[in-house]
Amino acid sequence: MAVEQKERYEQSVLYRIRHSTAHVMAQAVMEMFPGEAKIAIGPPIADGFYYDFDLPRSLTPEDLEVLEKRMREIIAADHEYEYRIISAKEAKELYADQPYKIELIEGLELGGLDEYGEPIDEPPEISIYAHDTFTDLCRGPHVERTSKINPDAIKLLNIAGAYWRGDENRPMLQRIYGTAWESADDLEQYLWRLEEAKVRDHRRLGKELDLFSVSEDVGPGLILWHPRGGMVRKVAEDYCRDEHEKAGYDFVYSPHIGKSKLWETSGHLEWFEENMYAPLEIEDQKYYLKPMNCPFHVQIYKSKMRSYRDLPLRFAEWGTVYRYERSGVLHGMMRVRGFTQDDAHHFCRPDQMPEEIDRVLEFNLKILRAFGFENFQAYLSTRNPEKSAGDIADWEASTQALQSSLDRSGLPYEIDEGEAVFYGPKIDIKMLDALGREWQLSTIQFDFNLPESFDLTYVGEDGKEHRPYMIHRALLGSMERFMGVLIEHHAGAFPIWLAPMQVEIIPIADRHLGHANNIAERLRERGFRVEVDSRSERMNAKIRDAQLQKIPYMLVVGDREVKTDSVSVRLRSEEDLGAMRVDDFLDLISREAVPSV
Ligand SMILES: [Zn+2]
Ligand SMILES: [Zn+2]
Repeated sequence: MAVEQKERYEQSVLYRIRHSTAHVMAQAVMEMFPGEAKIAIGPPIADGFYYDFDLPRSLTPEDLEVLEKRMREIIAADHEYEYRIISAKEAKELYADQPYKIELIEGLELGGLDEYGEPIDEPPEISIYAHDTFTDLCRGPHVERTSKINPDAIKLLNIAGAYWRGDENRPMLQRIYGTAWESADDLEQYLWRLEEAKVRDHRRLGKELDLFSVSEDVGPGLILWHPRGGMVRKVAEDYCRDEHEKAGYDFVYSPHIGKSKLWETSGHLEWFEENMYAPLEIEDQKYYLKPMNCPFHVQIYKSKMRSYRDLPLRFAEWGTVYRYERSGVLHGMMRVRGFTQDDAHHFCRPDQMPEEIDRVLEFNLKILRAFGFENFQAYLSTRNPEKSAGDIADWEASTQALQSSLDRSGLPYEIDEGEAVFYGPKIDIKMLDALGREWQLSTIQFDFNLPESFDLTYVGEDGKEHRPYMIHRALLGSMERFMGVLIEHHAGAFPIWLAPMQVEIIPIADRHLGHANNIAERLRERGFRVEVDSRSERMNAKIRDAQLQKIPYMLVVGDREVKTDSVSVRLRSEEDLGAMRVDDFLDLISREAVPSV
């Protein structure tokens, strides 16, 4: 969540409802295990809340039902949430038999940590919120009374394990996740979205549609693209490469490893080492696997003298990078250890910079829209005065250019004040999918650090050396992650131009196979991806299988179709378009199988 969004959420009624429901749940759990339940923390989170407990036995789904019933009783009794500031001494007495709370109180006393164990600047007041028999160490905010919680709009969702303070050396607690909304309708919609998210899970669809896998023998977080997934990627990359060429990009290629000196100069070994893999030794030299492509593109820029007339330069590369991620956070194609970025670096003169940003943003949106994405949310991260490289004037000019481009683009955007990395301001573009989820895709990032550390220059009209602006940008982001997002957004039913198999031809009987193969040939000649289902299955079984594979068109061929050189067209949506001449179908698919604009 962006900073501004997070703040808005924290001030919302929903936030208070969820926080208050977490307290009600904790009361119900304590009553279920009188004198034995140890409570840890229970904050609201996006779409709900959780609470962590140390309990004498494992919770079951049946327990959640019992707890929910008790929660509704507590809510109905209309208890007031009472706020009080207390001393550390009083707090310790109150929680004498609650070791996790004692640890939190000690943290508060020392300052530096809040009641969730998160770092804070000043030692806060210690406060509690009490309703009925439950009192929590808490700074709120809460609703005034339990009756403000809608008993028909709450639900306990699941139980998970969570280490106390996220530390695997501390006790494993039981976390109950729950959700709360203002109305029963909202709850229902949310539960639908949860279900739908499961159906769309790219890991599940990746298997069902045979798109990709991760092999234990290869290693976690390393993606194997199967032929069908590989076809989607190839089509996507072909399209993007063509568009890049038209937009004035040059294509470069760079190696997977580079000397340690390179990564020292670039600052990666200083700032990014924890995400890099241990070096290889080759002839007494240390080499690192690349976590980014930038230093290589910088070297290409530096390979000769650049004149003001050469700029702007735009170096594009589908560059595969490797970054260390803990095995616990790896997630299908979304979070991996090796991935390919659709990366590019722009080098331009200061006077070209605003137009360059305009062009890159416009190009960016065109590419994203081609894949059927429509709703975006942009974020502009601005300078953090305590941590920034480069001239303030450059920061101002570039931030201004980014914001003006955003204004002209009509994209909704928010400003994340002071959230930029030290080397330059940036725009992030997130896509809002069919379920309202945000997916980070594109980044347009200024860099005032690399041109300085690698001493990049161009010779200006005045015959003197000047520093170019450098912009990093990735549009789809990583091909792996992008594929995951594509799968989830389209629920595996890729836009027709991207579908790995576009047409399934289904002969009704063996005697129709010849005509089926003939049609397949004609479609292939026109560049379409087609297969003939020659199995001796029943027609309906073949149609069902093609539908499960989300193949856009199913062409059924029987006696009548052979006689009239036609096909019966069915769509993966189960719509039946009826019979159509093969030539008419060719026209139809030619119109439909194109990127959206
Ligand atoms: Zn609380
Ligand atoms: Zn870069």
